[in-house]
Amino acid sequence: MELSDADHAMMVESERAASRLGKPLKVKTKAAAEDESSPVRRSGSGKRGSGQALTKQVMETGKEIGHGFKQNSSVDNGVPGQSAASHAEKVAAVSNPGRPLAVDRPMCADCEAFFTRLAVARRTTFVVEEPGGHRQLFRPDGARVVVTPNGKMVYRTDGSVGAEPH
Ligand SMILES: [Zn+2]
Repeated sequence: MELSDADHAMMVESERAASRLGKPLKVKTKAAAEDESSPVRRSGSGKRGSGQALTKQVMETGKEIGHGFKQNSSVDNGVPGQSAASHAEKVAAVSNPGRPLAVDRPMCADCEAFFTRLAVARRTTFVVEEPGGHRQLFRPDGARVVVTPNGKMVYRTDGSVGAEPH
């Protein structure tokens, strides 16, 4: 499906929002998930560090915006959805509202769903830059715009997808 005029207008607006927001905050997803020495500790460490407090904040935000975190009993350590809630980009979005983010790994489906709901709830555009020149824009109307080096795609609120031919 090609992009409609409304999609193009949406993308121009999203790009404008992205440039207005300025330089993205670098988010280390690997460090948060795998590096034991990181201040953002793994949920299994048993320590009640700042990482855990932030994860709790993310879980509370999820409740507020109606997002059900992906559950995985082997890593959730007794708290359903805790592992997905600890993903660095979610923590960064909740603790730095309004800042564009740059992640070092592509976002997972749970993070994309979380950001979609967060953008609607906060009535603001969230911008996340992914490796390989990809950028995702989560819009307050619930639509998601994905910009890749090969073109642009719009995931509309009704679930349909538009793509710019190249
Ligand atoms: Zn994630």
